[in-house]
Amino acid sequence: MTRNRSFADPMQPAARITALLRRMHAIVANDATPQERLDELTRAIAQHVSADVCSIYIRQPDESLELYSTLGLKREAVHSTVLAWGEGLVGQVCVTQRPLVTADAPLHPAFAYRPETGEDPLHSFLGVPLLRSGKALGVLVLQNKKSRRYSDDEIEAVQAVATLLAEIAASGELLDETATRDVDEILHLPERLSGAAVVPGVAIGTVAFHEAPAPRHRVFSRNRTEDLKRLEAALEALLASVDDMLARSKLEADSREVLEAYRLFANDRGWHDRLRSAVQSGLTAESAVERVQGENRTRMSEARSPYLRERLHDLDDLSYRLLRHLTAGPIHTEALQEDAIVLARTMGPADLLEYDRDKIKGLVLAEASPTSHVAIVARAIGVPLVSGIGEALALAESGDAIAIDGDTGEVFIRPTEDVVSSFSQKRELQSERQAAFARERDLPAQTHDGVEIEILINAGLALDMAHLSATGAAGVGLFRTELQFLIGTQLPRVSAQQKLYHDVLELSTDKPVVFRTADLGGDKSADYMEREHEGNPAMGWRGLRMAVDRPGIIRPQLRALLAAAVGRDLYILFPMVTLGSEMSVARALLDKEIDIRRQRGQPLPRDIKVGAMIETPSSVWRIDEIARQADFLSVGGNDLAQFYFAADRNSAQTQRRYDPLEWGFLNFLKRAVEGADAAGRPISFCGEQAADCVFAAALIAIGLRRFSIPPTAVGAFRRFVRSVSVGELRDWFQNAGAAASENMRRDLSIFLRGRGAAIE
Ligand code: PEP
Ligand code: MG
Repeated sequence: MTRNRSFADPMQPAARITALLRRMHAIVANDATPQERLDELTRAIAQHVSADVCSIYIRQPDESLELYSTLGLKREAVHSTVLAWGEGLVGQVCVTQRPLVTADAPLHPAFAYRPETGEDPLHSFLGVPLLRSGKALGVLVLQNKKSRRYSDDEIEAVQAVATLLAEIAASGELLDETATRDVDEILHLPERLSGAAVVPGVAIGTVAFHEAPAPRHRVFSRNRTEDLKRLEAALEALLASVDDMLARSKLEADSREVLEAYRLFANDRGWHDRLRSAVQSGLTAESAVERVQGENRTRMSEARSPYLRERLHDLDDLSYRLLRHLTAGPIHTEALQEDAIVLARTMGPADLLEYDRDKIKGLVLAEASPTSHVAIVARAIGVPLVSGIGEALALAESGDAIAIDGDTGEVFIRPTEDVVSSFSQKRELQSERQAAFARERDLPAQTHDGVEIEILINAGLALDMAHLSATGAAGVGLFRTELQFLIGTQLPRVSAQQKLYHDVLELSTDKPVVFRTADLGGDKSADYMEREHEGNPAMGWRGLRMAVDRPGIIRPQLRALLAAAVGRDLYILFPMVTLGSEMSVARALLDKEIDIRRQRGQPLPRDIKVGAMIETPSSVWRIDEIARQADFLSVGGNDLAQFYFAADRNSAQTQRRYDPLEWGFLNFLKRAVEGADAAGRPISFCGEQAADCVFAAALIAIGLRRFSIPPTAVGAFRRFVRSVSVGELRDWFQNAGAAASENMRRDLSIFLRGRGAAIE
């Protein structure tokens, strides 16, 4: 393809955009009526790209597009040509929010002829949406009589201009008062989004951003020298922080290279020059960063090479950081109002725990899967979570009303009254359901054919212990001790650990508690833990591997556990066991701590039982050997499924791809159950997936009798257990399971419903 260079002057594209933006600034600053200003702008833009026609359409609250200004079309058409939603090429640009380019508009299938505009002789068409906060506020259109191709540089320039037009339209500097109000109304229309339901529950509240967006700022600079100075200072601070990051990290050569590349990017002169010239053209430093970031994002969405995309991603991140330096805004957590629903791209479990639990009512994340640790914590503290909707971050503003449904994945930003009232009703219904479960809490978890199923809860904080009596669960099947390590700003002292374990045991009122030693590493890492970068942290240095290599963390923890459980039964569970030999090292460490207490004449727990988590495929394969070293076993289904299907549990794309209710995986689990039975060791299932009763039915069918699930799931689980018969489940699995392997969830659900099982 030959690149069409229609520009008459020899200036470089970047310099040309700068010149145009400068002109636009002068026009907006002029003392003129809004219409005169708009007309001036259309003229300037048309000249810049040598277009015969330049028009600006503005979206109206009724979703139509009104022609607000034109150079080249008939003047009478201004304010009288109104396109319906999606009508014609212009309407398409608005609906799709993407540029549309065609060399022969009348031949395009979406073309709609409007005689009053006098556009008959026009052929080439370039339409670009005026995007702001994820919404199209209008369309900027360029047309030429001749059938021509617009060059990439021209398209890029027009996009930059459109971004700026949208910004000044929103800031009130472009249109008259009524039109500005209309734009504001569009920006604040109610929005309904649909994401992935991760943690159930309904919440209504106000939007708070985990990472506060840049505060509102002016588009055009009042003092260019001052803005340049601010930009230079922010760049300097940014470079210093990147240098500091590099100096602090103790990375291996390969990983270091990546950071070095990041530093190179931060120092990139081309980037700095683009920023400076954007300020020179009259933008504030903040707008300059946003504009260059916008151009960069467009390139990123079009780049095919993964390498280039990665680098552009770095640049996006750097722009974000630079903006923070400029606005001196908080990088994290704005002060929470009552009933806050927090929005974020991603969040670690520690971040969530830092929030005031009384205030945070819900969570909307762009990325988080049901078994990610942030989801586990959200579930533990009863915070509904919806994920997979990054658009929410652009569409919502801090302080907006918002309603989320963690059962369906629906999110309503600025909900209408009807939505609010239906959400309030749903919330009420949920409370009633919870009350009904509470009334059933003392009923035995026994199947129709008299088999006892033990229901335990997953916990991680002393506060979770209240769920024991509230749900009537038989104990804690998994106490995730790492949460204490993740909340603080430093490694918790032995005394603090001992106090927590002691409190937990006291609160358990003699029900058993299985303490899992800190499963750190992977996505469970706090800021104070200096960690080397790993390409695959989930399969990296984590869990028992870390404990075995560096007993500095696990030994004090074992000491704290032994001291806290004096005179009681102590259950210790080791995470991420891969080989039997790791279990023997861990056991030896425990024995050493027991010996020390004995030598010192200190009392010991009444009984000590040691368990192994079965969450790697290798541990299922060698369960006989691991069982020899353990008193009990516990399947960590979240990790086991992640490794079995080779599908990252934290990635939204891979998470929902494989249903653990799958014939192969179930038979793999069956092997673990049979291995444990053969070795005479009790085995439980503590992955969050067991909260799903249809999956749990299959687990019961393959022989599991003990489950540790989130407290919120206990009521429904007990009701389910009491509605089925183990014999029937086992028969179904043996006789129909293989045939149902095409769609096991569907077939098993049909079977369960047919038997009157309590599944929703
Ligand atoms: C699991 O992997 O299933 C498990 C229970 O451990 P965690 O979710 O804490 O990794
Ligand atoms: Mg695990």
